[in-house]
Amino acid sequence: MQKPLKKIVIAGGGTAGWMAAAALSRLMGKELDVTLVESEQIGTVGVGEATIPTLVFFHRLLGIDEKAFLSATQGTYKLGIRFENWRDLGKDYLHAFGVTGKDCWACGFQHFWMRARDMGIAGDFGDYCLERRAAESEKFSHLPNNGLNYAYHFDASLYAKFLRNFSEHHGATRVEGKISQVLLRPDDGHVRALKLDSGRELEGDFFIDCTGMRALLIEKALHTGYESWSHWLPCDSAVAVQTASVAPPVPYTRSIARESAWQWRIPLQHRVGNGLVYASSYQSDDSASEQLQENLAGNMLADPRLIRFQTGRRRKQWNKNCLAVGLSSGFLEPLESTSIHLIQQNIMRFLRLFPAREISPVEVDEFNRQADFEMERIRDFIILHYKVTEREDTEFWRYCRHMPVPDTLATKIDMFRETGHVYREGNELFVDSWQQVMLGQGLMPKRYHPLVDSMSEKELEEFIGQIKSSVDTSVARLKNHEVYLREILAGAG
Ligand code: FAD
Repeated sequence: MQKPLKKIVIAGGGTAGWMAAAALSRLMGKELDVTLVESEQIGTVGVGEATIPTLVFFHRLLGIDEKAFLSATQGTYKLGIRFENWRDLGKDYLHAFGVTGKDCWACGFQHFWMRARDMGIAGDFGDYCLERRAAESEKFSHLPNNGLNYAYHFDASLYAKFLRNFSEHHGATRVEGKISQVLLRPDDGHVRALKLDSGRELEGDFFIDCTGMRALLIEKALHTGYESWSHWLPCDSAVAVQTASVAPPVPYTRSIARESAWQWRIPLQHRVGNGLVYASSYQSDDSASEQLQENLAGNMLADPRLIRFQTGRRRKQWNKNCLAVGLSSGFLEPLESTSIHLIQQNIMRFLRLFPAREISPVEVDEFNRQADFEMERIRDFIILHYKVTEREDTEFWRYCRHMPVPDTLATKIDMFRETGHVYREGNELFVDSWQQVMLGQGLMPKRYHPLVDSMSEKELEEFIGQIKSSVDTSVARLKNHEVYLREILAGAG
């Protein structure tokens, strides 16, 4: 029998590395010896500032105080993403984190809404979603029983610092240094140690590769392989820059589709994060940089930075005694802010499957099966935004509109178009979001469930009217986002 895993070495100190250190030290610190090595000289990717609601639960599990976190990271609240010009030029919608309307035992709310719309008595689909209405009204408050679903925007470098303090407080050790070599055990090819520039060797029982796109352990040393998804997600570059704020922060991210690209705007307390994500085969770096600079609201705080990436995933997220977390495990588009969620998922999945003694292939296979499923479903959801568009104005959008998509996505689109149904597979991440984005992108189902016709017109009008007025009442109770944020921060300890 081997001894239990004791020494965990985390390579890299970006968002992934420090989230891993925070969770391991806080949740299993008594059993583990957690060391993180990072290089200030190399730095981090410096983007990744919008999240989804699962981060709120991760923080709660770790006992992270929300006010302290928002104060330390210049954070703001986020209720969704506003997609501008994605369906077509001048057509916008907001994908909000909440549920729209009320489902019944047979079908989703969209079926009732479709009939009401045909009758001319329904508002916009989003009128029946509290988070969507709150976002558009630029309002936010905490509601009892998690009554308002939300996430955060934050400054990525401040978040890493915040988690570093947290992790060190819970017993993690940080080592400054550049990894120059990954040393493997000759007998089984597992990682034995990380050799630093200084000559020091950091030995471990288990290694977490958080070295970003360099993927020093999982790829350079273990040659795990990469599956490219760039034929479905053709963007491969981003130019990013921070600007001074010129208006109060809104509680949503903006995603503005351009000719061969899309632009993000992430409002923080002290500044705005901006970037243009584009496909280098359709737009040059210079033109992308110019386009971004022409569409900024405030003064630039630094020079724009170019980032290259390849959409896809590592063939195994867990290989031998190494787990890839963060950009080393693969990268989807930043479009739906899902990377930080995937970081958190890999960490939590690892903790749930934590080897009691030797690493068993059964748990490694199960880990990789779950991680693959999750990433594929998120991939499909992101491709949906490109595929279901009415845009034909540029070569880029014509390619996206007519490209073949994975069978799993094609089935979901056909099902919605023909029947109005959306089915959740396993515990895939997005649920109500599918309806919101498909309708937002202009995909209207051909028919609704026949059960809806068993309601009289008056009953249907009352049903959707009640939902709308309950949303109206809740929105009226919320405060202006900036005012509420200031109040929360004033109480920050
Ligand atoms: P990095 O930040 O690159 O960190 C790598 C670490 O490894 C650094 O500390 C570095 O110093 C260290 N390192 C590397 N080599 C060595 C070495 N030889 N020796 C020692 N240390 C080393 N995600 C979201 O959830 N929301 C978003 O809105 C979002 N937007 C994005 C926009 C773009 C354009 C891109 C590219 C990504 C975006 N992401 C987003 C993804 C997000 O940025 C990452 O998932 C997140 O920042 C984690 O990165 P990381 O820690 O894996 O890598």
